[in-house]
Formats: sequence, structure tokens, C-alpha cells
Amino acid sequence: MSSDLRDAVFVLNAGSSSLKYQLVHPDTGVVVAAGLVERVQNHRDALAGVFEQLAADGIDLRADTGALCAVGHRVVHGGQTFYQPTLITDEVVAEIERLSALAPLHNPPALLGIGAARELLPGVPNVAVFDTAFFHGMPDAATTYAIDRDTAQQYGIRRYGFHGTSHEYVSSLVPGLLRKPAADVDQIVLHLGNGASASAIRGGRAVDTSMGLTPLEGLVMGTRGGDIDPGILLHLDRVAGYTSADTDELLNRRSGLKGLCGDNDFRAVTARIEDGDEAARLAYDVYIHRLRKYVGAYLAVLGGADAISFTAGVGENAAAVREDALAGMQRLGIEIDPERNAVRSGEARIISTDESAVTVFVVPTNEELAIARQSAALL
Ligand code: ADP
Repeated sequence: MSSDLRDAVFVLNAGSSSLKYQLVHPDTGVVVAAGLVERVQNHRDALAGVFEQLAADGIDLRADTGALCAVGHRVVHGGQTFYQPTLITDEVVAEIERLSALAPLHNPPALLGIGAARELLPGVPNVAVFDTAFFHGMPDAATTYAIDRDTAQQYGIRRYGFHGTSHEYVSSLVPGLLRKPAADVDQIVLHLGNGASASAIRGGRAVDTSMGLTPLEGLVMGTRGGDIDPGILLHLDRVAGYTSADTDELLNRRSGLKGLCGDNDFRAVTARIEDGDEAARLAYDVYIHRLRKYVGAYLAVLGGADAISFTAGVGENAAAVREDALAGMQRLGIEIDPERNAVRSGEARIISTDESAVTVFVVPTNEELAIARQSAALL
């Protein structure tokens, strides 16, 4: 076994029909191998196929499992049980299974990935890193929905928040970029990918975030609409006989950019706007309007911020979104520098003017590295 595998972590992100993996060194961030398998029918077979392919490329994980530090799994929902990276045992698997009620689309495939890794790489420790973990300690005022207390308690209804690994990773880099102690930094992170979420962070701790009990709340996303009047669902129930399956489909697949213009990929939406497409234009405008509302809300929650960071596919690449999301906010201490904002780079960078009281950053996220580091730190 090649020595460059020693202490590497195999990071696995199992979706309902996909497996995303990365073999990475937690200390250096060096990626030994990475890939995405789509149209997965059987997670065990798909992972076995990945290991075969890696072995053919000279990286035989199954022949020398002793080289690997851990398999790190992205698990979406940790409920109130898990808020630290957790060594996976049968009991942990059972609890993640129980939490599937809160994340029926996400926790079951993660469990399939965990089962496959435990079977195929016996003896390698498996670690679960939860998307909800970073938001665990938010104030009650932010996590509590204003509904009947007993009902909420009985069914575990509260704001959990998601994309926590990304919000934590990005926000942890900002104090260094500002050359300030972490405890003194109030910041907003805008994670804009297929899914999208915003968070308000004070001194390294999350105090609010836009996703809620599920990843449906908050910002406009690729196929999810974020905040809506809950009365819309009652109305559709009454006038159109919507079942819970219909509602699920509307909220998860027929909303957001997709629902508004038929495309969920941001690049496609942008291209259509350039061609004068009005539905795409409206979809973009709704997306930006919601983003601005959350920026305003979190500036108020924090009483002003030192930094705002954009991250993930849209946040890192779409300069127009960054400009439009923060345009005309000079009175709030926010001023984007158009030249800095136009720079394309894989590095963390400042895009605000030197006069801007709030420093605006683009900070590329790296959830795989964060999962690898948390897994290695646990062991
Ligand atoms: P995920 O949430 O699946 O991890 P990503 O963070 O990769 O998603 O973000 C995917 C989104 O980023 C897609 O909507 C894609 O169109 C958008 N995106 C990627 N590159 C660009 C780009 N150069 N300009 C605008 N949008 C982009």
C-alpha cells in the first residue's frame, strides 16, 4: 500500500441516487482521489465499484484498511441527539434510523452508505458528521417555532438548521482573514448552492439560520422555494385536494427556481435572462429579494456585522448575485467593489471596498475537508 494513504480519510456523502466521495488528508487537505457516482440503484454495489476502480488506479483501500484513518460520513439530521462528530456503532445507526422521520429524504441514504462502508472496509472506524451539529447551541428564541408548545415538544418540532459543516468551515476562516480574534467577529454566511441557507454567527457560535425543522425553509433554492405562507398548503388541500405526497412533491421538486422558470441550474437561469426570458428574470428577482431580506434580518439579529461571506456553487461563482444581493446597502455599511467582485479565483478573497465597514468575502467551502478533519480529530 502506498504510504501516501496513511492517515487519509475516506469521506462519503450518500444521496438517494448518488455517492460522492473524496479520499483526503485531513492535515494538508491533499485530495488523493475524488468522484461522484450517479444513478445509484444499490449503494453497497456502487461503493464496491468505487473501491474496485480505485484499486485499478493503484489505491487498494480494501487490501490495506489499516492505512485509512477513518471513513467520514455526511449525515444530514442529527436531531437533538447528535451535535458532535460521532463514532458509528450499532446503537448510533439505530438512532440515525429513528431520526429518519425528521429527514426522510436524507438520513436513509446516509445509512445505506454507512452500512456499505462498514461491510466493505471492516476494521476501519466510521464517523458520522451531522449537518445540524453547528446549529445545536442556537438560542431558544431562534430555534422555537411559535406553535402549540406541547405539539412541538411531542414531535421534536424546532429549528435544527442544515449545511452546518459548510457554515462552520467558512465562518472559521473569516477571523483569520480579518486578523481579529474569533470571539470578536459577528458575521453572516450565505451558502448558495443547489440548496441554500444563511446563518448569523456571533463569536464563532451560530445564533440563527434560515433552514428549519427541514431543509425547506428560508432562501429560494434550485427546486425548493424556502419561506412560504403555510396557509398556501391548507388552501391547496381545500381547493385542490392535495395529499401530503402532492405537497411534498410541490415543496421539494416543483418550487424554487425550477418552479418559477423550469430550470434549477443557476447557469441555465442566467443564460435565459441574457436571452430576455421573463420567467427566468422573475425567478432571479425573487431569489435576490429573499436573499436581501435575510441579510437585513441577520444584520438586525447581530446588531451589525463585521463580515458577510458568500460560498458554494452560486455564491462562489455568480458575481451578479453577490452584487445584486448587497447593492445599495451603503447606509448599512456594505459596499461591494465591482472590480474585486469580478475576480474569478478558488481562493478566499475580499470583494468589498476598503471603505466598507462590513468586509464582504467569497470563501470557497470544503465540506469534505471539514468532515475529514472532524473525523480525524475524533479518533
Ligand atoms: P450542491 O448544493 O449540490 O453542493 P453546489 O454548491 O455545487 O451545489 O452549487 C450548484 C449550483 O451552483 C448550481 O445551481 C450551479 O448552476 C451553480 N453554479 C456553478 N457554477 C456556476 C457559475 N460559474 N455561475 C453561476 N452559477 C454556478
